[in-house]
Amino acid sequence: MKFSDIIGQQSLKQQLIHTIKEGRVSHAQLFLGPEGSGKLPLAIAYAQYLNCKSPSEDDSCGICSSCQKYNKLIHPDLHFSFPIVNKGNDAEKNICAVHMKDFREAFLADPYMSYNDWMQAHGAENKQGNISKFECYDIISKLGLAPFEAGFKVLIMWLPEHLRDAGNVLLKIIEEPPQNTLFILVAERQEMLLSTISSRTQLVKVPRLQIDDLAAHLESQFELDAKAAHSVAMLSEGNARLAREMLGHEVSINEQLFMDFMRLTFTGKGSDILTWIEKTNELGREGQKNLLQYGLHILRECFLMRFGSAKLLRLKGAELDFVTKFSPFITEQNVSEFNRIFNEGIYYIERNANARLVFHNLANESERLLASAKKVATANA
Ligand SMILES: [Zn+2]
Repeated sequence: MKFSDIIGQQSLKQQLIHTIKEGRVSHAQLFLGPEGSGKLPLAIAYAQYLNCKSPSEDDSCGICSSCQKYNKLIHPDLHFSFPIVNKGNDAEKNICAVHMKDFREAFLADPYMSYNDWMQAHGAENKQGNISKFECYDIISKLGLAPFEAGFKVLIMWLPEHLRDAGNVLLKIIEEPPQNTLFILVAERQEMLLSTISSRTQLVKVPRLQIDDLAAHLESQFELDAKAAHSVAMLSEGNARLAREMLGHEVSINEQLFMDFMRLTFTGKGSDILTWIEKTNELGREGQKNLLQYGLHILRECFLMRFGSAKLLRLKGAELDFVTKFSPFITEQNVSEFNRIFNEGIYYIERNANARLVFHNLANESERLLASAKKVATANA
């Protein structure tokens, strides 16, 4: 994540870069700001700049080996802690590292995600997340190891409000961290933090987004006119997460299920598709029909984009991303086949066929069609 990927916050970005240039990087910092202000992406951009091999005056390069790993949140010296739902008493299972794949996906899909967004992505249902003693011990052991690569070892703890008293085992490592270690807490509510911990950190206040900055972002991202963008920015009080929700561009259930379906059948992950089928089975017949109709619509858009009709598309956000990525694989050869199998799916669902079987067949067919499209794409590459 580069600074330039983050909405507004110009003077804070400058201030953060300044501390790095001056060599005044405090080893334990608290990024404190309201929801939707961008404090988590800012913490990541800051750590990325610190580790970048050829940073410019005002941003990381985005392409060096360190930046490339930071972009995907897979750098071996970048660690995250965040609230999770603990199950049982097994230390191995109740640490954030186990949930890193889900966290990465959720963050990369929306760097402004809220605690509730994450809990939903994490499948928490109604349970509360926390950062447990298991995680705290894991942090101590991770940070105790020498860095894998040159530069700073970084631990970003998102929402330390969910750290219980167990957090006190971290006091020593926060106060006397191993050399070249950076500990960033990213919090929303100072009054809920363990005072023993927050008193040992340097405070970095992340303000609400300025209305003009958020409005400019909404204008370009959602193709709004200036006046509409300004009023949404005002109504959301500078909260980027809320503004997007107001614009109705949260990923809908159909969007999510269909994209998952295409990705799973593209990669051929047989076991994951069974989980997907179970989720889809719970939608009921009307929901299942809607999902298939939606899929037909997006497949048509993929096909249109392939032929340069992108301007005709009325897509935004996650849908546009998806269509852009998938359009190379929706070809003249397979588009009518896709049309047929999705329409057959609708036909059978309407006639009360077993939904699990219908979606199972659909997955097999889709996998077959995508596999041959992949072959063609590779041969042409
Ligand atoms: Zn770089």
